[in-house]
Amino acid sequence: MTMCAVCRRNLLAGESYRYWRARRDLPSGRVVCFLCESEAAREGWMRDPRRPSHENAVGLRNSVRRVA
Ligand SMILES: [Zn+2]
Repeated sequence: MTMCAVCRRNLLAGESYRYWRARRDLPSGRVVCFLCESEAAREGWMRDPRRPSHENAVGLRNSVRRVA
């Protein structure tokens, strides 16, 4: 599960998010959902230049089964 660092909400499958960094944060950054980006900017966080990511659909990884 990916959690938004601002609203502490678990992102829904397929939901987009980006990485933001507060001052002195680790380079890995924090996940911020699109709804909270204005809040993060108000806190003085910087948006990470990495491409936006998507939360994986739940169970997608295990849905591919080998057909015998
Ligand atoms: Zn959020």
